[in-house]
Amino acid sequence: MTRSFRIAAIAGDGIGKEVLPEGIKVLEAAARRFGLALEFTQFDWANCDYYLQTGAMMPPDWKEQLSGMDAIYFGAVGWPATVPDHISLWGSLLKFRREFDQYINLRPVRLFDGVPCPLANRKPGDIDFLVVRENTEGEYTNLGGIMFPGTEREMVIQESVFTRHGADRVLKYAFELANARPRRHLTVATKSNGIAISMPWWDGRADAVGTAYPDVAVDKQHIDILTARFVLQPDRFDVVVASNLFGDILSDLGPACTGTIGLAPSGNLNPERNFPSLFEPVHGSAPDIAGKGIANPIAMIWSGAMMLAFLADAPGADGARYRAAHDAILAAIEQSLRDGPRTADLGGKATTAQVGEAIATLVGA
Ligand code: ATP
Ligand code: MG
Repeated sequence: MTRSFRIAAIAGDGIGKEVLPEGIKVLEAAARRFGLALEFTQFDWANCDYYLQTGAMMPPDWKEQLSGMDAIYFGAVGWPATVPDHISLWGSLLKFRREFDQYINLRPVRLFDGVPCPLANRKPGDIDFLVVRENTEGEYTNLGGIMFPGTEREMVIQESVFTRHGADRVLKYAFELANARPRRHLTVATKSNGIAISMPWWDGRADAVGTAYPDVAVDKQHIDILTARFVLQPDRFDVVVASNLFGDILSDLGPACTGTIGLAPSGNLNPERNFPSLFEPVHGSAPDIAGKGIANPIAMIWSGAMMLAFLADAPGADGARYRAAHDAILAAIEQSLRDGPRTADLGGKATTAQVGEAIATLVGA
């Protein structure tokens, strides 16, 4: 008897409510075909309607409600017309990231056959890499303040805080990932020529952690030229690791180079599994197209496949089945992008549900 997994399904706002059901549809098709034991529980909080009714994005016992879960499958949050983004975001998603210590933000970047690429002369296979972003510290602290506000002497300070614990664990994760891939190549984003204390230190931590991975080729690149190379030479990347701010920028730029944000998935991971990890599309709630049934569900579906790959390595899991289900979903996405129905962002006329149905059918076949 292999173990089952409890999945918290949280739709959030806008197109989150439209793409999440398609993701679940595909995961359920995969579960039937490969004999996976997934139990979904839907939560009707962490959305702006809940905030307007209760004055909070989530109930006080949200952490207890989610702590027993093996993963969180999350749509998108935010409805700026009624609730400012800093309230909705800090009241839900960013709480999950911090309180569940999801210190890895993993974002695959891949160009698919059949998807128009904004970069000239690029074909599928040229762009296929992973961005690993540090997700809990670094430049995103609230340490600092404004002195002499409103005067000629006004000045502002905001600190970056890196810890050896925080840097080493994200670097170790990235080295492990690179070591397990055929190319065994790791790009470390840095800026040691300009940010003269923290970035040389970060380079030093990469060297220290890297001694355990002699087979991984390491390429340290300054963030400015690194962003240029994402556009000009995307084929040179395999795994890219970066601090919170640099990783944030790279993990939006990467998917932008591969066609549409409607395809880009992500995992917010706590690799030790002390807390549930969270899988969500990179895109937001897209108020401009919400309610029309035209959002591309593939980012949500691919995020579900990432969740299965993560669960495959859990203690007691029948890993082979979960990996096979992941591969089948990716193959179905590939085939569907080649010759299946398309949503408007890819130039088609299909609805969200039609694309979800087509992929679920391919997965179940
Ligand atoms: P965030 O929530 O990260 O702040 P945002 O609100 O600025 O993001 P999104 O909600 O991601 O931005 O939307 C950006 C643009 O991309 C919008 O024009 C939106 O319609 C489009 N878009 C986002 N997701 C999808 C999708 N799944 N399918 C089609 N178009 C999408
Ligand atoms: Mg938004």
